[in-house]
Amino acid sequence: MAVNKEKYKEIIAELEGKATLVAVSKTKPVEDILELYQLGHRDFGENYVQELVDKEAILPKDIRWHFIGHLQSNKVKYIAPFVHLIHGVDSENLLKEIHKQAAKNNRVIDCLLQIHIASEETKFGFSENELNDLNVLNDLQNVRIKGLMGMASFSDDMNLVRSEFKKLRSIFNDYFSPKQKTPETAETPLTIHHSPFTLSMGMSGDYKTALEEGSNMVRIGSLLFGERNYNK
Ligand SMILES: *Cc1c(COP(=O)(O)O)cnc(C)c1O
Repeated sequence: MAVNKEKYKEIIAELEGKATLVAVSKTKPVEDILELYQLGHRDFGENYVQELVDKEAILPKDIRWHFIGHLQSNKVKYIAPFVHLIHGVDSENLLKEIHKQAAKNNRVIDCLLQIHIASEETKFGFSENELNDLNVLNDLQNVRIKGLMGMASFSDDMNLVRSEFKKLRSIFNDYFSPKQKTPETAETPLTIHHSPFTLSMGMSGDYKTALEEGSNMVRIGSLLFGERNYNK
């Protein structure tokens, strides 16, 4: 299916000055990515390590690749040389491995911590308490925590979705809002890095709600590239 360029322009206009668009190109061919690239788009999101590695190898080097899927520690090494932002960091072990691979590549890798906000059990992420207990960050100098990411419940109930986004926004404000940098909180591990901070929430079905709730990065796939067919 062709790329919906009209929709792309509409979304870009809608987000202007408020949020960054990550165009989620998972399962889509490189030709589709190039169509948006030619319109000036540079931020693309992928979920699968092998697919990302294959695409990165043949596409222009100024693309900023976002890894938005569930990342296994043993696969970090494949994307560490080039990944721009890892959205779904959901364990201490994964953070340590990203640090190790980033160091090997002489880089600092930007990460978002994934917070579990959905009522569904299946979604990955830290709970708020686990976030509080995260003590490793000061030792991981090759990891830079840029903010938080979350996925709302897959539901038509926009009140539920909105309340989940609200919860994520409030956690984000607690940890990343500049006004929180009072002397007592300045040394909490999550606030040691500099702004601007990123709050990645919102997908094709719920990005408008996410924007209303303070998202500054949305991850949109099917609205731009059409429905995905996983059986190809
Ligand atoms: C696939 C995916 C998206 C994009 O989903 P659409 O509904 O197609 O916009 C966004 N975020 C994550 C984490 C995804 O896996």
